Amino acid sequence: MPLRDFHTHNFLCHHAAGRVVDYARAAQAAGLASIGISDHNPMPGSFDDWRMGIGDLPEYFAMVEEAREAVAPLPVLIALECDYLESGEAWIADLAGRADWDYLIGSVHYIAPGWDVDNPKYLSRFEPGKVEEVWDLYWAAVRRAVSSGQFDILGHADLAKKFGHRPDGDLRRYYEPVVELLAKQDMAYELNTAGLRKPAGEMYPALGFLELACAAGVPVVLGSDAHAPGEVGADFAAAAEMLRRVGYRETATFSRRIRGSEPL
Ligand code: ZN
Ligand code: FE
Ligand code: FE
Ligand code: ZN
Repeated sequence: MPLRDFHTHNFLCHHAAGRVVDYARAAQAAGLASIGISDHNPMPGSFDDWRMGIGDLPEYFAMVEEAREAVAPLPVLIALECDYLESGEAWIADLAGRADWDYLIGSVHYIAPGWDVDNPKYLSRFEPGKVEEVWDLYWAAVRRAVSSGQFDILGHADLAKKFGHRPDGDLRRYYEPVVELLAKQDMAYELNTAGLRKPAGEMYPALGFLELACAAGVPVVLGSDAHAPGEVGADFAAAAEMLRRVGYRETATFSRRIRGSEPL
């Protein structure tokens, strides 16, 4: 039952610690079958302060090479966690052609221009009575991200719960349309353990999403979203157990943007 971590960062994004090789060594020590390097994608111009710049790509590639040499034969996959922006599709297409990526994660952080929903700076916008509005904005962006067809894996599907805000009622009203779109696009998503380390107190996405996605045959991978080498593979035994409990018997693999699968 090989476990693979598809979601890790490094110092290039200015809010993660360590070089790629440190994450790769951590994966090796944890007994993972591979590690995916998926730092926050460059954006045109000076967009925000939590990602690598376009000029950092050569160093990113060099660090991945360094890691491959250090941990061979452990596979070190090269990827990006791409921010989905409604106006950003041409830029993502440009980035997609700049390397032989093993996969691209599509994530929604920005739910409106200048408003990254996971940024504690804007926590006050989750006023009582406004949570549903924030969630509506967030999930509308997720639906567009999936429909864009530009990504292999949907990142942390219900990130809007990061600080513990959830609207009332059955949240499957948000999950169902996204699961349908994932199935239609033949696209995977990740079970991301970082939510356990946040006020949300549970993985992304919630159990209800996993159940719907499994029933719809949507492929899944595991991601730690490590921002420090010590977080690589965090809570993966629990994550794999949760996938098995909802009925998953395999997980997806990726190489050069071709998806495969292996038994869980
Ligand atoms: Zn990050
Ligand atoms: Fe993210
Ligand atoms: Fe991430
Ligand atoms: Zn992330």
